[in-house]
Amino acid sequence: MANVGYVGLGIMGGPMARHLAKAGHNVVVYNRTTEKADAWVAEHGGSRALTPREVAQQSEIVFMCVGNDNDVRSVVFGEDGVLAGLKPGSVLVDHTTASATLARELADACAAVGAGFVDAPVSGGQAGAENGQLTVMCGSNDQASFDRVNPVIDAYAKRCQLLGKAGSGQLAKMVNQICIAGIAQGLSEALNFAMRAGLNPDDVVDVISKGAAQSWQMENRAKTMVRDEFEFGFAVEWMRKDLAICFDEAKRNGAQLPMTEMVDKFYEEVIAMGGKRWDTSSLIARLTKG
Ligand code: NAP
Repeated sequence: MANVGYVGLGIMGGPMARHLAKAGHNVVVYNRTTEKADAWVAEHGGSRALTPREVAQQSEIVFMCVGNDNDVRSVVFGEDGVLAGLKPGSVLVDHTTASATLARELADACAAVGAGFVDAPVSGGQAGAENGQLTVMCGSNDQASFDRVNPVIDAYAKRCQLLGKAGSGQLAKMVNQICIAGIAQGLSEALNFAMRAGLNPDDVVDVISKGAAQSWQMENRAKTMVRDEFEFGFAVEWMRKDLAICFDEAKRNGAQLPMTEMVDKFYEEVIAMGGKRWDTSSLIARLTKG
């Protein structure tokens, strides 16, 4: 069992930290909104630190899951940031979905203080975090850092894989989000078509989900999509943040993303409909309400 720290007890970080405590690790937590950290400690034990720096000072492995690149920077750098307290020989694991460029920068900054770094964005959503069934995509400049954190991450992952040097986890997460954009739009068009054709969409999904059209989105979202239920899941505004990272990276590597760009515009329209916190499956709302 290890002394571990967790920075960012949001929808994803809170349950991940809970799984670490349940697995028997000593967990010290930090959350910007202190009430959340107090509530977490009252429920799951461990202790609360006053700054990210304090978390790092007490930990062999520091996990973090915040919002975007700027949020990562604000908890890592600076006088009270993680980096200021990171011990030589420790490892920083970033579960935030952020850019690969930032991951490489963090890897270099950690190496400069004798610490390891693993970028480790996740897929599986809130349910995956709650149930300890996340998919974790990792990048690291040293295999030893990955080998050290992999058995600990096991507490909340069904799959955790090293894909290459620092930044590779974030690049893999971009691949994941590009897939989801296309699949969610395809499923939206198909379900809207089914309903306009007078079919019972639940019955159609029941049969075609046993064939080649099957997907996670179909299994987990089709029923709610046809009922206009979107107040849960992975928010459209988070998806647009992720797609912006994809477009930025595509500019560098020359990949064309015509369909993803189109879906991003559709998400912009969903936001104009009041759906910035709706689940990504809300793409169908543009079609059913049009
Ligand atoms: P969330 O519920 O909004 O939680 C964000 C956490 O980060 C909160 O603890 C927040 O603190 C903290 N935070 C944000 N900005 C900060 C800053 N500048 N300084 C200090 N703390 C800051 O978000 P989430 O849904 O857990 O998502 C977190 C990350 O996981 C994002 O990168 C997201 O894209 C990714 N992700 C989310 C899902 C999902 O289904 N939700 C799935 C896969 C990946 P406060 O409590 O003080 O606000």
